[in-house]
Amino acid sequence: MHDVVIVGAGPVGLLLACELGLAGCSVLVLEREAEPRSPWKADPLGMRGLSAASVEAFYRRGMLHPLLKASGVDDYPGADEPVRPRGAGHFAGMMLDPAKIDLAALPVRLPSPAAEGVMTNLEAVETVLSERASVLGVEIRRGVAVSAITQDGELAVARAGEHEYAARWVVGCDGGRSTVRGLAGFAFAGTEPQFTGYVVLATIADPEKLRPGFNLTPTGMYLRTPAPGYVGMLEFDGGAFDRTQRPTREHLQAVLRRVSGTDVTLSDVHLASSFTDRAMQATTYRQGRVLLAGDAAHIHSPLGAQGLNLGLGDAMNLGWKLAATVHGHAPDGLVDTYTRERHPVGSWVLDWTRAQAAVMRPDPHAQAVQGLVRDLLGTRDGTTYVFEKISGSSIRYDLGDEHPLVGRNAPDLRLEDGTRLGDLMQDGRGVALDFSADRRLRASAMGWGSRMRYAAGPARNDLGLGAVLVRPDGVVAWAGDRVPDREAFERAADRWFGSPAI
Ligand SMILES: Cc1cc2nc3c(=O)[nH]c(=O)nc-3n(C[C@H](O)[C@H](O)[C@H](O)COP(=O)(O)OP(=O)(O)OC[C@H]3O[C@@H](n4cnc5c(N)ncnc54)[C@H](O)[C@@H]3O)c2cc1C
Repeated sequence: MHDVVIVGAGPVGLLLACELGLAGCSVLVLEREAEPRSPWKADPLGMRGLSAASVEAFYRRGMLHPLLKASGVDDYPGADEPVRPRGAGHFAGMMLDPAKIDLAALPVRLPSPAAEGVMTNLEAVETVLSERASVLGVEIRRGVAVSAITQDGELAVARAGEHEYAARWVVGCDGGRSTVRGLAGFAFAGTEPQFTGYVVLATIADPEKLRPGFNLTPTGMYLRTPAPGYVGMLEFDGGAFDRTQRPTREHLQAVLRRVSGTDVTLSDVHLASSFTDRAMQATTYRQGRVLLAGDAAHIHSPLGAQGLNLGLGDAMNLGWKLAATVHGHAPDGLVDTYTRERHPVGSWVLDWTRAQAAVMRPDPHAQAVQGLVRDLLGTRDGTTYVFEKISGSSIRYDLGDEHPLVGRNAPDLRLEDGTRLGDLMQDGRGVALDFSADRRLRASAMGWGSRMRYAAGPARNDLGLGAVLVRPDGVVAWAGDRVPDREAFERAADRWFGSPAI
């Protein structure tokens, strides 16, 4: 019997396991695959872009350096200077120019060790997280495929063959074809595909026939990456390719020839898989004692590199709420704020990928819109708008407070003595940061002692704040003026951390 059973040891299941382990829950992770390693997780096929917001989550839990090391990143910017991102991503294959980002127009950020996104791979992310999970006492059982879920008011049980794993909560982090989602009766709604996409690692006889980078063409798109033989492509076939079949060399070559308009030859295909732009989302992320996170809760095309970032955001949002519920000090309904906050973010990501598919379609109307979008991306405002969306900095939960910081990811505020907010967050508690060193605020914060850390002192840059209350997931719960309103602080603390212990 565990507090939480997590189904799936992908990046989302592992980050959630770390969050729950850090908060003192007993956690068992069940993973279908016997081996953690796979060529699909290593470079180049496993290559993934983490946004600055995701990197910040690693930083706040003391995992930034292990992440950078495992990802082979040795030129990450220093912590003290405001940075202009070196890469800014793309919209529908149209690259953004980082020089055009108007940093002053973005939501406020302070210099931070998590300065920008990181290009990594799934193997690096999973290795860092599983090592951390083990240190935190999480048990990961591999080679266990969950095939049944039952629940009553008290317990949820995951079954795999003859074995039963009972817990107070089960979380399905078992990917886009989630078994848990189907077994627990989650409704999954959205839109059907317009294209089939492929990622291929091949020996290309005449690679010079393919232009490097993203290429939008009259029938779809192809991407030639710097990694030899690694290409991506998509064809607007209405999602007609039968994805239960492994794509053959002949099929892949025919698609690549059609979308590139060349007679390129794939002499050998080493690995290949397909995906579509089917965009579906669970209508709620909770059914009784069963929850969903990551691709299990939402699927969409990889256009715009959002899925992993979205799933890691789910895990950060859910972890501390579920832990507080397990420990019995969560305020009423805390766990349901998970769906309330994360469903709209998932819904936005689905729309973002749909919008990209819509402008890539090979019909004259879509092509006309594509030209218009390309013009907008050539402007400072257009680039800044898209960058704000894809970097995760536009996310703001509606917490019913008009202060511009509330509901947003907290900037890395810093005390005069050099202590950073990110340092204070490493034990997974909330943080009350009090620049006014108000004795009454301190006395109040002590009431939530085991759930909230209090730190006081003058700030290097207080952004006009007297004090701020930050949730364990890094979201600003309350922001006070230079003379903080203690009652407002207590109301916010009550709302997110439950009644004070003393
Ligand atoms: C080509 C491509 C490029 C991408 N690029 C990016 C990018 O740059 N940035 C980005 O943010 N996202 C990107 N994504 C999306 C990203 O890879 C996924 O969103 C992310 O990996 C999902 O993580 P997850 O943990 O939710 O699911 P998964 O990684 O799918 O993990 C699910 C785990 O559950 C296990 N499992 C499944 N069923 C069971 C069962 N019944 N019992 C036990 N275990 C089970 C699986 O074996 C697996 O280990 C890309 C996707 C693709 C296809």
